[in-house]
Amino acid sequence: MSAGARTGFYFDERTFWHGGGNYASLLPVGGFVEPLVAGGLPEGPEAKRRLKSLLDVSGLMGQLAPTGADPATGEELRRVHDPEYLRRFKALSDEGGGEIGLRAPFGPGGYEIAALSAGLAVAAVRDVLSGGLANAYALCRPPGHHCLPDWPNGFCLLANIAIAVEAALAEGRAGRVAVLDWDVHHGNGTEAIFHDRAEVLTVSIHQERNYPLDTGAFDDRGEGAGLGANLNIPLPPGAGHVAWMAAMERLALPAIESFAPDLIVVASGYDAALVDPLGRMVLSAASFRAMTEATMAVADRVSRGRLVLVHEGGYSEVYAPFCGHAAIAALAGAEGLEDPFGAAVEARQPAADVDRFLLQRIDAMAAAL
Ligand code: ZN
Repeated sequence: MSAGARTGFYFDERTFWHGGGNYASLLPVGGFVEPLVAGGLPEGPEAKRRLKSLLDVSGLMGQLAPTGADPATGEELRRVHDPEYLRRFKALSDEGGGEIGLRAPFGPGGYEIAALSAGLAVAAVRDVLSGGLANAYALCRPPGHHCLPDWPNGFCLLANIAIAVEAALAEGRAGRVAVLDWDVHHGNGTEAIFHDRAEVLTVSIHQERNYPLDTGAFDDRGEGAGLGANLNIPLPPGAGHVAWMAAMERLALPAIESFAPDLIVVASGYDAALVDPLGRMVLSAASFRAMTEATMAVADRVSRGRLVLVHEGGYSEVYAPFCGHAAIAALAGAEGLEDPFGAAVEARQPAADVDRFLLQRIDAMAAAL
């Protein structure tokens, strides 16, 4: 990192305007499913808008280099996505919105907002690789890690991280990239896009059989030229700080370090935190700070500190902002905030014998690599 270089922060107010679909939580409204007064999918703007607000009111934003970005270009999108999918998405967006895949609705202009979200990740990666920043955070919305080349799902309409990684590879800014996904859900889209590729390592720590149900198994190590360049670390519901840090330190980070990437990109979801409605894990803001710092240490050793965090899930409108703030404070080397849920999370950590069971399971995975 160059002297005095800052942490870039990429965001755009318009990403908070993405919406669409008549859902009550994960269920389409209809029959006996009553519309919610403040309705919609769990992936609403509040958790992300409130993270940006918390950065402002805490003063941390003043220590970052905040900026916007251009939307991802058609060429950048087509490196990942099927042109026919992009055409259908744009046409339906122009007609007022709708839905193509599963739980990934969009309103009018949804295509442009999704391209902007991807563009934030592209710009963050490009600027970190060009050396002007210490590291960066992209507050992307809609998220991206579930999206397949031709099928949006799980709130994800474009594969933000994959688009950014492909741009970096195509522009010759990086030759090898590692993507670490600590969202509580499996990063199935990123995995699928790079499944047969040797130059991109994909690692996902997630709650097993949460979403999607049929992907994310430990024994899926990639295919063809990509065999060995995919690592899934499924953890059972209820895992806490000890197990997640062991998954990082005994599995995820050693795999990344031995892969020796030019860049590490983190799919940073906060839905493994306590009180998240779509996860059943027991992490705190301090856990996200610790995971970020551990990843920064590896980045310092293998990728000259080049690290970009891209926002994915995190559906507690109250807690996800504190978790995101902790990760960003770590990136910037800044003081964190007092965690209003800290004592509650601490009191709900698994019992020692549960942690022992989880550590045995993690060690068994490490032994099987
Ligand atoms: Zn998630």
